[in-house]
Amino acid sequence: MANYQDQVETLPGVGPKRAEALHALNIFTIEDLVTYYPYRYEDLAVRTPQESLDGDKVTFKGIVSTPAVVRRFGKRSQTYFGLMVDQANIRVNFFNQPWLAKNIVVDQELAVYGTYNAAKASLTGIKLVTASSDELAAIYPASKEINAKTIQNLIELAWSQVRGTLPSLVPASIRTKYRLLDRNQQVEWMQFPPDPYHAKQARRSAAFEEFYIFQMRLQLLKLSDQSFAGEKIQVDLQRWQAFKDQLPFKLTTAQERVVGEILHDQQRPLHMNRLLQGDVGSGKTVVAALAMYAVVTAGLQATLMAPTEILAQQHAQGLAKLFDQAGVDLRVELLTAGLKASQRRQILADLEVGDIDILIGTHALLQPDVHFHHLGLVVIDEQHRFGVNQRSKLREGGVNPDVLAMTATPIPRTLSITAYGEMDISIIDQLPAGRKPIETRWLNHGQLDLALAFMAEQLAQGAQAYVVAPLIEESEVLDVQNAQAVASQLTESFPKYQVGLLHGRLSNAEKQALMADFKANRIQILVATTVVEVGVDVANASLMLILDADRFGLAQLHQLRGRVGRGERQSYAFLIADPKTDYGRARLEAMVATNDGFKLAEEDLKLRGPGDILGTKQSGVPEFRVGDPIKDLTMLTIAQQEAIATVEESAWDNQVENQALVEYLSQSMAQYRHFD
Ligand code: ADP
Ligand code: MG
Repeated sequence: MANYQDQVETLPGVGPKRAEALHALNIFTIEDLVTYYPYRYEDLAVRTPQESLDGDKVTFKGIVSTPAVVRRFGKRSQTYFGLMVDQANIRVNFFNQPWLAKNIVVDQELAVYGTYNAAKASLTGIKLVTASSDELAAIYPASKEINAKTIQNLIELAWSQVRGTLPSLVPASIRTKYRLLDRNQQVEWMQFPPDPYHAKQARRSAAFEEFYIFQMRLQLLKLSDQSFAGEKIQVDLQRWQAFKDQLPFKLTTAQERVVGEILHDQQRPLHMNRLLQGDVGSGKTVVAALAMYAVVTAGLQATLMAPTEILAQQHAQGLAKLFDQAGVDLRVELLTAGLKASQRRQILADLEVGDIDILIGTHALLQPDVHFHHLGLVVIDEQHRFGVNQRSKLREGGVNPDVLAMTATPIPRTLSITAYGEMDISIIDQLPAGRKPIETRWLNHGQLDLALAFMAEQLAQGAQAYVVAPLIEESEVLDVQNAQAVASQLTESFPKYQVGLLHGRLSNAEKQALMADFKANRIQILVATTVVEVGVDVANASLMLILDADRFGLAQLHQLRGRVGRGERQSYAFLIADPKTDYGRARLEAMVATNDGFKLAEEDLKLRGPGDILGTKQSGVPEFRVGDPIKDLTMLTIAQQEAIATVEESAWDNQVENQALVEYLSQSMAQYRHFD
């Protein structure tokens, strides 16, 4: 008798080759095998031709009316016979299964599963349904090396040996609370469902188990991450408060809340790994400034990493001004790739002895020659723009400063629970007072003149405008040409105004100069490829005109729109597009319908699915085998709460009811590490 922890090789019929094929499907133990669930079921319940539609996969049961005839064409063959089903004579065809003929006996009852062709009154047979076939036949994901039938046979064999012996992973108290099945019942009904009702019940339990195990891993990872080199930062609260009191504006309630959450984390002897989400313009920078200043008052250093040089520069200037205005004396420096070697050497030397309090830069901060004296906080702005590797690079080499990652791309709950589950999350869900919601209009190309007339009015009132040129996929050269054409057209149409052109081919200095001109209103119309997307802050701009808006993704459109509405002026976004697909139309409708980035993100996720948001691998969304993180979001959330409750219980891992879970997790944690 096999044990569920035995290797699959111990099963009769599993030699080295089969074992290898199973391993490739991540099946190593008997337990893995019996929990290798079907991805769907074939409904073998008997139907009549009247109940069936053309093309349906159905099971017909009837009396064989004519003997089977086998016709051969070289290697291929066709086997056909007549079947009286409910007074209709159906011609049944099987292809390339000549051996079936011997089972076809005239006047005998027979059931066949196949594809129904209503016009021809025929059925293309898939298989004969024997009396012992279940109503629901399980269909397994297979591979070239091992087919679904073999997998199914092995599962049957294995299950006959270990049935009833699997310990449940989800603790009994949780199973009772949510009326989940015991694991043996769950496996039985997943693999051999007596009917759709039981299949559904088993699926619910299996999905919960999958989510719960996943969440347990995340929570354990988080715990081990937190206790690793976590540092209690001795914030000088008086100095910190003095700076906060001197800020040029009053923080919003939401900003106050997240500032409190961060400060609390910083002063704990645990490592902080926090994601700050806030829509464009919600004021994340000042929150970062307060967090950075907190570590500076403790005599430590902070660093802020931005995705582009423009943004890093803007942050360096903005933060220096913010501290200066508040009368705070500290040293902020900018480290970018564009520095002269001598400047760079000086900055690095000063950094290492602790003469620089805050260092701002791009990924140039990740160079191996950058050594801090004592780094207390890493802030990552627009963190979704950095790869997972870059994120973890900052933590290499034994340095483990607190991390505050910021993003303006709202993350739907599904993703924040899965891809970012090991981080704590703070959300700024409020814009500073006095902001007027941006009005968004969708126009077709024929109405471009209307948009331009509107732009003329805005400019006449002293406002400025962005025009985003169409995006030409995978060709920066065409992008630029396009933007140039748009710019020269606008120069002609708006002779009274200055038109600037910003694109990816410009040097950093050129981009910098253009942005400065726009900010100072020396340029009124800024034509740009998508480089304006990130972080540019010009309060006097009131119009964002996006050409061929259907070529952009929803998140990108929302980011672009967020460039306006930053000041006192009522702002507008005009989306010019004639989308050809439903998805294109749906995106534009969503943009018009709401300004709320979180709603848009949820919508986007629904429209595209999680794999598409950044590509499953990149986004870190794991592939669940049973549960669906979008459709089963409520269950995923509950599983998360329960996993948190489990690990918060003292000595949870010593309790008897959790032993199987502890063992299972300790065996599988190693595989999970890639996620970090
Ligand atoms: P984002 O979250 O998009 O990074 P920023 O931090 O750039 O937003 O802030 C956008 C603008 O709002 C900045 O000009 C900033 O000075 C201003 N701001 C931030 N917080 C407040 C507030 N509480 N009241 C008024 N203005 C604020
Ligand atoms: Mg920002």
